[in-house]
Formats: sequence, C-alpha cells, structure tokens
Amino acid sequence: MTVRRRYVTLVICLFFLLITYLHYSTFPRIYSFHDIYKEFYYIPIFLGALAFGLKGALLIYASIFVFDLPFVIEGWTGAFVAEAGRLLHLGLQGLFAIFAGYLSDRERKARTHAEKERYLARTGQVATAIVHDLKNPLISILGFSKRIKDKKGNVDEAIDMVRDSALTMQKIVQDVLDFAKPLNLTLRREDIREVIDKACRLCETKAEGAGVEIVRRVPASPVSIEMDSFHLERSLMNLVSNAIEASGRGQRVSVSATPGKYKCTITVADQGSGMDEETLESIFVPFTTKKKEGTGLGMAIAKKIVDAHKGKIDIVSRPGQGTEVRIELPYRAGR
Ligand code: ADP
Ligand code: MG
Repeated sequence: MTVRRRYVTLVICLFFLLITYLHYSTFPRIYSFHDIYKEFYYIPIFLGALAFGLKGALLIYASIFVFDLPFVIEGWTGAFVAEAGRLLHLGLQGLFAIFAGYLSDRERKARTHAEKERYLARTGQVATAIVHDLKNPLISILGFSKRIKDKKGNVDEAIDMVRDSALTMQKIVQDVLDFAKPLNLTLRREDIREVIDKACRLCETKAEGAGVEIVRRVPASPVSIEMDSFHLERSLMNLVSNAIEASGRGQRVSVSATPGKYKCTITVADQGSGMDEETLESIFVPFTTKKKEGTGLGMAIAKKIVDAHKGKIDIVSRPGQGTEVRIELPYRAGR
C-alpha cells in the first residue's frame, strides 16, 4: 500500500468511527441529530471510492450498513413513511457508492491506458532517435572505408574521418548507457573546486576551438562536499560543453561555486544564444535536441546525477541573452 493510500485509509477509518460513535453515543437521547449524522457517511464512501475504486466504496458501504443495522432495528417505528424514508436513504447511499466507485475505476483505467500508450510512443521515439543518431556516422564510416579500400583520394584524411565517426558513435553509445543504467554513486567528501577544475580542463580544447574563454570563480579555501566526483564531473562537463556550444567567438563561460550555510551553489553561465520557452520546457526530456550532432541526453544525464546527490538543478535563460544553469548540492558549512 502506498503512503498516500495509507493516509486515506486512516482518514476513512477516523471519519467512519467518529460518525458511528456520534450515532451510538447520542442514541436515543438526541434522536433528531441522527438524520444529520447519516449524511456524513457520504464522506468515507466518497474517499473510499477515490482511493480504492468500486471495491473500496462497497466495502465501506457494507461496514456502514452493518454498524447502522442495530440502530435501524432499535429505532424501528413501523410508520411506513418514516421507515421507507430510512430505507430509501440507505439504498441511495449504496447507489452512490456504486456510482462513485465505478467512475473512479473508469478514470483509473483510462489513466493507466493513456500512460501505457505514452510509454510505448516514447519507447518508439527513443529507439528512432538512437538509430537516427547512429546512422550518420555509420554512413560516413562505410563511405570512407570504401574509399580507403579503393585507394581513392587522401587515405590519411579518410582514416581520420572513420576515426572521428567512430568516436561520435562511441559518445552516443556512452550517453545512452549513462542515461539508461541505474546510477551507483560512491559518495566521498571531496573538494568541489577540484571537480570544477577538472571538468573545465576537459572542456578547454573544445572552448579553444570555439574561441570561448572559460572563467572559474571558486573560493580560496576547500569546499568539501559529500559526492561522487566522477559523476558530478560528467554532469558539469555536459553543462560547460552546452554553454560553449551556445556561445559565439570571444564570449565567456563562467563556472562558479558559492558555498552557503546548508547548500553549495554551482553555476555555469554563458552569454550565448539562450533558449526559448519551448526548449526550456523540454530541456530535461531525453533525446530532445536542436543540434545536428546532439543526442539530447546531456541535460537529462546532468539532472539524473544531481538528483542522485539530493540536489536541485535550475535554469534561467533568455533568447539572445545567455543561460545560467544553477546546481544546488546539500552542504554543511564548517564540516
Ligand atoms: P545536446 O547538447 O546533445 O543537444 P542536451 O541535453 O545537452 O543535448 O541539451 C538539450 C538542448 O538544450 C540543446 O540541444 C540546446 O538546444 C539546449 N541547451 C542546453 N544548454 C544550453 C545553453 N547553455 N544555451 C542554450 N541552449 C542550451
Ligand atoms: Mg549537450
């Protein structure tokens, strides 16, 4: 049973016991109150239908019926109109239980069906995206290897192209694996400045090629955080790499770490192209990319790693004005 269902069950039982207690504790002294108490039985029936469907609603109705029975027998007057009214009320409660339970079951079935459809559609999209990403480098490997075999054109250049394409395929496969496999973090207290430094260094060649400068702003003293440095470094590399790709020549990408009392904030900011609403909304959705060579997995992987560290990742971005990605990691100052 889920925690939510357990709560609902507790609330239903409390309601049920309270109403039944009111019934019995005031019987037969304040008889006129019973008509009011009876109406409150609709609440546990409704909650039961919402949480457990038809079965739940009927079970609660049956309990109400059993608990109410001695009261009905005891208060039996024999007057046709009064008793018919009481029986009608019980019957209507039963009908309400069936109707509410049926609607709740129907809604749940429709939701499960829609989720399944979405899952299947997504799986199809994912498979198509992977195949599509692998197709281009594969075509170029086939083309260039044929050239090498036929000894046509510049063989060294063709070998380089085959190698580059194979590396692209390796990156796609690595990204897919990183995204698909469960994360097993090895947590250790380490200095976040070193992780930032390594991630930036690994992106330096790419930055130089794009004419982008990476600036680091970190505290002078160590900032020790419980983390898996290997994974966090990968996460930061994805962010810095995106920032470089979005930047123009001569622009800057700044990476900073700001320790607070309970959290350490790491930001990767660029002055590049920024993002529109649509891109921002789907930025963590795997395989969503606008780049010709992109896999659309970088941000999804980065989020997965930050989430595994019980951290938070936020993005502020405006088209044409750059992007700031902010990661917050749990941190205790002075520890
Ligand atoms: P990929 O880089 O392979 O496209 P990502 O998941 O890393 O996949 O990024 C998804 C998309 O988010 C990118 O295609 C890009 O459109 C957008 N994006 C991510 N970071 C930035 C950024 N710093 N500036 C502008 N757009 C970005
Ligand atoms: Mg990326």
